[in-house]
Amino acid sequence: MRICALPPLAPTYRGRLAPSPTGFLHLGHARTFWIAQQRARAAGGRLRLRNDDLDAARCRPEFAAAQIEDLRWLGLEWDEPVVSQSERLPLYRAALVRLHAVGAIYACTRSRRDVQAAAGAPHDGDEEPLFPPRFRPPADARFPPPVAPVTTNWRFRVTDGETLTFMDGREGPQTAVAGRDFGDFIVWRKDDVPSYQLACVVDDNDLGITEVVRGADLKLSTFRQLLLYRALGLPAPAFYHCALVTDERGVRLAKRNDALALRTLRAAGRTPAQIAAEGGWIA
Ligand code: GLU
Repeated sequence: MRICALPPLAPTYRGRLAPSPTGFLHLGHARTFWIAQQRARAAGGRLRLRNDDLDAARCRPEFAAAQIEDLRWLGLEWDEPVVSQSERLPLYRAALVRLHAVGAIYACTRSRRDVQAAAGAPHDGDEEPLFPPRFRPPADARFPPPVAPVTTNWRFRVTDGETLTFMDGREGPQTAVAGRDFGDFIVWRKDDVPSYQLACVVDDNDLGITEVVRGADLKLSTFRQLLLYRALGLPAPAFYHCALVTDERGVRLAKRNDALALRTLRAAGRTPAQIAAEGGWIA
């Protein structure tokens, strides 16, 4: 009898576009999402659109609708349906409970102001100031499990001095040191909202994402997310961080930068092909 050994099946590439509906998309988003699509196509894979709409105070449905319209105009295509994070809270809560069960998080009563005052200026290039280790509860402190609605911040305890690495698809090996480059970070806010870090990890895993393509400004977040994957016992995807688009003064584009919003460019008569050609994106 001949036994025919089949080669192991390579997982199908699955990527995602994950805008937050807090403003209009600009050239920087367009470039990142364009690259995400190119990478998915080159791998013969699939792409999902994830609407990162957890922060009710900052997200607006009209921005979510505008993003879809702008992305379609740009020529981006994704597999339906669109996933909205606001509809997936039970999944994030289950992950929070799991993090508590494995002792990875603690309830933190320090306010943002406390942390800012102690940390001085926000950490270089990163929005979250380094959490002072002296604000941390002792390692053996026990906390009752988080129950809904959550009314205190829950923070992930990092191991100070631990070196973390990952292989970036564009930039090669990346390293950060926990406690130096970033500190204990929030996984659930006291206004009962999951943090971007936690929701992103849960979704990327749940949607079977094999490669995360996003802007280089989120590289430090990738290290935090790697810690969450590990604590939750989940496999991490591959990562590819795109270079950031800057304005003529070399400043990174922000959503308030309306001059380079896709809608402004579109209204001024620019076509997606021109925008891609001028930006020198991979065609
Ligand atoms: N929604 C996040 C943002 O717009 C990006 C999330 C991600 O790609 O991981 O900054």
